[in-house]
Amino acid sequence: MSAPGAIDTLEFAHSAQELSASVPVAALQRLEDILYDSAGSLEYTIRGRQDERSRPLLELTIGGSLNLQCQRCLGKLEYRVQFENTLLVVPPGTPVDDDLDDPEAPDTIEASPELDAAALIEDEVLLSLPLAPRHPEGTCASRFDTQSDDAGPHSASDKEADGARAPSAFDKLAALKRPRNKH
Ligand SMILES: [Zn+2]
Repeated sequence: MSAPGAIDTLEFAHSAQELSASVPVAALQRLEDILYDSAGSLEYTIRGRQDERSRPLLELTIGGSLNLQCQRCLGKLEYRVQFENTLLVVPPGTPVDDDLDDPEAPDTIEASPELDAAALIEDEVLLSLPLAPRHPEGTCASRFDTQSDDAGPHSASDKEADGARAPSAFDKLAALKRPRNKH
């Protein structure tokens, strides 16, 4: 073990280690732009194991809540984070294999002797977030709601209207989501 929270991915998987920790939302700086505030924390567990073909895996369980900013009214939107993901540890430099026929193929992560666990969790949370979080219809205090009835004959689409004023923070999020899209 080296730096706190750093894990040697291959060793971690092969010896079936487990790490559970909590990280304050305020420490997840890449989330900052899309948050309404940085209250709360996320709990996570990383488990190492090998699959039936003896390939190293990291199993992640992440939970907690975030206060996102509603993209319609810009108010606080409490968002529950709860998901699991399994990452296949691959040698550094392995290209993302777009030819894989298996739709169930796991996401991959490059092997590292010093993986920053909190950064990994941040990545995973970013990838899991909705691109344009909004309060459900009817509970949103949007000042735009009252204008939608006046929309011209060709607009009307909520989606188009939102796209037109999409904040840059979510463009950034969209860009972040691309590299590790599911196949
Ligand atoms: Zn709203």
